[in-house]
Amino acid sequence: MSLNCEIVKDLVAIYTDDSASPKTVAEIEAHLSQCEDCTDYYRQYQKINEKSPVLSDEPFAVPLSYTKLAKRLRIRRILERISFIAAVIAAVAATFLFLKWLWKAGRADDE
Ligand SMILES: [Zn+2]
Repeated sequence: MSLNCEIVKDLVAIYTDDSASPKTVAEIEAHLSQCEDCTDYYRQYQKINEKSPVLSDEPFAVPLSYTKLAKRLRIRRILERISFIAAVIAAVAATFLFLKWLWKAGRADDE
């Protein structure tokens, strides 16, 4: 049985972290020895994996995939934008209420 490129690329993750079965490892290695495209993919995957905190010993390291990380950063950016808009609205509302209070106070003085 020989694996196709799509399957090999899916399996690269478990191959890289040594959780593939010996049979799968043999199949992947057989494919990689013949397929330049998958070998490139595997090298890129390894490069990304080196930078990933998964294998790091640092105490704050959390196993996060880059997609999850990117999603989190995107959510954080959206939340920052929302809190900025909320702050602007609060400032405008506070100014409005203050002016209204000033206006009322001025009218009270006139009476
Ligand atoms: Zn291939």
